[in-house]
Amino acid sequence: VRVMSQQFLIPTYARQPVAFVRGEGVWLYDENDHKYMDAISGIGVCNLGHCHPAVTRTLAEQAGQLMHTSNLYRIPAQESLAQRLCELSGMENVFFSNSGAEANEAAIKIARLYGSRKQIARPTVIVMEGSFHGRTMATLSATANAKVQEGFAPLLDGFIRVPFNDLAAVEALADNHDIVAVLVEPVQGEGGIHIPANDYLAGLRTLCDRQDWLLMLDEIQSGNGRTGDYFACLGAGITPDVLTTAKGLGNGFPIGACLVAGKAEGVFGPGNHGSTYGGNPLGCATALAVVNTLTDDIIDGVADKGRWLKDAFLQAFSDLPMVTEIRQKGLMLGIQLDRPCTELVNRARDAGLLINVTAGSVVRLLPPLVISQAEMQQLVDTLSTLIHRFADEQEVA
Ligand code: PLP
Repeated sequence: VRVMSQQFLIPTYARQPVAFVRGEGVWLYDENDHKYMDAISGIGVCNLGHCHPAVTRTLAEQAGQLMHTSNLYRIPAQESLAQRLCELSGMENVFFSNSGAEANEAAIKIARLYGSRKQIARPTVIVMEGSFHGRTMATLSATANAKVQEGFAPLLDGFIRVPFNDLAAVEALADNHDIVAVLVEPVQGEGGIHIPANDYLAGLRTLCDRQDWLLMLDEIQSGNGRTGDYFACLGAGITPDVLTTAKGLGNGFPIGACLVAGKAEGVFGPGNHGSTYGGNPLGCATALAVVNTLTDDIIDGVADKGRWLKDAFLQAFSDLPMVTEIRQKGLMLGIQLDRPCTELVNRARDAGLLINVTAGSVVRLLPPLVISQAEMQQLVDTLSTLIHRFADEQEVA
């Protein structure tokens, strides 16, 4: 007999009343074998869909061979994965972590050490309004959400916040000699799918070069094919000094990475940072299978799929003033409503569709990159019906 109870869990999550027992492609199945389309990919993780056979096979084989040795020794799969990620990104070397927040912790420590080597007593990182970088103390301090910070004072010092997508606001800090780096998401995910102007990242690159600051891109959500390039910085035509990624890198296996190049290369040396599990054989073999499976033929389709979805939603909601904007880059989509709409999550689930509402009023979609045309059509039909019904009810009320 299977007994389910949440009473032994610290209630940090308001969980939805469903448990999934298996997955395949864009589909998840609950205990009663009800089928749900996962249009959020486990929060931007399962870019190749659930249980991609190439990934599952590698994971199972590696688990039978060797899972963990520690970083006291060389780890061939870690070296191969690092090389592959550098080839894909133009970065120079990699530190592996077990999550996104930890990858950003590494980035923030690199920025501090970089500053300290330049005799800067209070190294300060420019971060953005609307940003999300994680839940550890440093990444929480870098995050812009007052709600997730509440009650955790004193936060970490050494961050200055400016509006996102505003080069002038960054430029205005040029005379602040404490600044050592800019940390920014190429597309803000948790913040509500906010996409900067085309020249924003290149503008930051130029500014950082001029100021001798590190440009640090948080590609934890935007990386691994999500925006239509392997990393969003490639689409922007720039190479950052630090690039962090996680989520899609393991397609469900927990792994993160902090990649460095340029001014950030050579900052960390022996003893400066570490992780018992980071870059373990199991995670690296699995991520290597992910990266090798996430080939151009999948990634090249992402831009078209995303545009198709955006156009289909624009059409579906053209008669609905409640939908005020649809923002999209690759397969990151945000449907902006003019009012709070978190209840759409439950209604969608009842209709067999898993979505997310972020920033209160943004329906966020991060479907697996392998979603088919027929599945996209189904996603549009289901969501369009739900949001129209929601709008009708609001009018009556
Ligand atoms: N940075 C970004 C842009 C994210 O979207 C997330 C997770 O949502 C994180 C960092 C934190 O990653 P993790 O939850 O793996 O610590």
